[in-house]
Amino acid sequence: MMTSKNILQYRIPENLNLNNRQNNRLLYIEKEILEAVATGVEPQRILDSLCHAAESIVENSSCSIMLFNSSRQSLYVRSAPSISDDAIEQLNGLIPGPEAGSCGTAVYSEVPVYVKNTTIDPRWINLQKFASNFDIAACWSHPIKAKDGLIMGSFALSSNEQREPDNFQKRVLDVVANIAGIILQREIQEQALWELAHHDLVIGIPNRILLNQRLKHAIKQSARQNQNLALFFIDLDNFKTINDTYGHKTGDKVLIETSKRIQSCIRTNDTLSRYGGDEFVLLTENITDCYNIGLIAEKILNAFTKPVYINDKEIDVTPSIGISVYPDDGESADVLLSNADTAMYQAKTNGRNKYICYKPELTYNIQNKLKLEAELKTALLNNEFILHYQPQHLSSSDSSLSVEALIRWQHPKRGLLYPVDFIPVAEQSTLIKEIGKWVLQESCRQGKVWLDRGLKLNKIAINISAMQILKGCHTQISTILNEYQFPAEKLEIEITESLMVQQNKEVLTELHLIQSSGISIALDDFGTGYSSLSQLQLLPFNKLKIDRSFVSDIPGNKNDEIIVKTIIAMGKNLSLTVIAEGVENQEQADFLLKEGCDVLQGYLFSKPLSVAGLEKELNII
Ligand code: C2E
Ligand code: CA
Ligand code: CA
Repeated sequence: MMTSKNILQYRIPENLNLNNRQNNRLLYIEKEILEAVATGVEPQRILDSLCHAAESIVENSSCSIMLFNSSRQSLYVRSAPSISDDAIEQLNGLIPGPEAGSCGTAVYSEVPVYVKNTTIDPRWINLQKFASNFDIAACWSHPIKAKDGLIMGSFALSSNEQREPDNFQKRVLDVVANIAGIILQREIQEQALWELAHHDLVIGIPNRILLNQRLKHAIKQSARQNQNLALFFIDLDNFKTINDTYGHKTGDKVLIETSKRIQSCIRTNDTLSRYGGDEFVLLTENITDCYNIGLIAEKILNAFTKPVYINDKEIDVTPSIGISVYPDDGESADVLLSNADTAMYQAKTNGRNKYICYKPELTYNIQNKLKLEAELKTALLNNEFILHYQPQHLSSSDSSLSVEALIRWQHPKRGLLYPVDFIPVAEQSTLIKEIGKWVLQESCRQGKVWLDRGLKLNKIAINISAMQILKGCHTQISTILNEYQFPAEKLEIEITESLMVQQNKEVLTELHLIQSSGISIALDDFGTGYSSLSQLQLLPFNKLKIDRSFVSDIPGNKNDEIIVKTIIAMGKNLSLTVIAEGVENQEQADFLLKEGCDVLQGYLFSKPLSVAGLEKELNII
């Protein structure tokens, strides 16, 4: 690669035609400089070399390149390798005009200005002191133009002797100003490309590449200065639903608004970047007090308490935040990012719209989770799941049997595991779909066996996770019912209320289709999800299942008594069957029956039992 040094020390090759010596020198400079531009030599070095080269072909001259500042109000010296710092300092800030020396006037008038004698030329009237201080007798300046004709600045040759340029010197000014224009434009283009490659196109903030660069740099700096830095991994809680419901354009606007809200909580020298889809990473340096880290996170969460308004639509946006701190939680960019991500994941698991600071246990939890996921896959293949059945006690004199199927996992090493140990992990991956399918198949198979043996079976209720209710799932359910020849009327699905409240139209449609096939639907854990009566009327439900937490303290707890009474009355109003779960003693049962509850379920009647246990209890041989 060519360096500015060899341009600087250029010598005319011996074999050049010296008849036209001056022109050849100029051509040679032009060629060398443009080659340096093409090979990517740093623009500042090329500009300095260009000045030196021009000085070498115009005797007794000093060169300067002045450019407009960003507001295009005044000029500053971009390159003047032979001019003293003092002079440069006085030139900086020159405002173009008709009496602004050679450069200010050339930029103002957009034509070359050749001042032969600065002491008498009216264009130098305001710069007399400057001219005498720095012994400038003559100064010729040529405007530098961009391709589109826009003036970028000026190129000047000054001298301590009064003189006018000859034709060749005018040509030097013209050619060099032209080359300077090419170098500067190329620099602007490269900056634009750099911006493009390092910023997010939708939001305009730094992207993952720039974040990584800044983070690495910040780590080095923090190490040198013995300081902390904090990394915030910020992920929106419901962005996929927003995108699915309102479309990508609205989704993009939500991201822009999100970025604005986060930016309103941080300092200007913090770096907020878009890391991926709905993930933002915030880098804050110079953390003097780690207490402040929590304050920043709280400030960000607070910025999302009000909904986002886009095209008159009110959209709730909440973030989950994970934080890692250098050097405590990692000494490299990768580790810090990964640990902040792990903490963010924990914030989601803990109920979203929270911040969590990284702790080594979190990594351990994630590793455990990954291990559990792998084991669950094997469990499906090896048939390690079983269903236990808990009878539901009908308050009327009906003697038929209804049961709720509850999954257990016969783990080869850890023994019998309950849903709480594995369903939440399954629900975070697609495994829940396969497990749910197995539960449906197994309960239909068992139900059919009981029916064939003449058992008076009313219903088998199975628990379904909200994420299992996807488009087309009603046909899947029908297929399985057909396959096992189990009647739809004998199947009930239980769906947790809290998960239903925020569901969209597609889920509703699917539930309607399921219900119209003859399957009944129960709203599980009712009372915990804040459904309003008006919402309830839209949902296709046959049953309300009062949550265990309201049953445990009745009679006695007045608050819970009122809630239970209200739920029963509400159910009656909507012609729904009301069932209470977790009934453990006679007082609870009496209270519920008195209020008109239709079905009771709980340890008072029976614990969930294995098939063999249930058959023994019911005397079915
Ligand atoms: P759930 O649907 O609320 O199930 C009732 C839970 O209460 C069961 O716990 C049951 O054993 C327990 N229970 C029943 N009677 C009493 C009582 O009198 N007192 C007390 N304290 N508890 C009682 P289990 O079997 O551990 O199930 C826990 C949760 O796991 C279930 O809550 C359900 O949400 C979920 N689950 C169970 N099986 C499945 C399944 O096949 N698929 C899915 N997606 N979730 C399931
Ligand atoms: Ca249930
Ligand atoms: Ca329940």
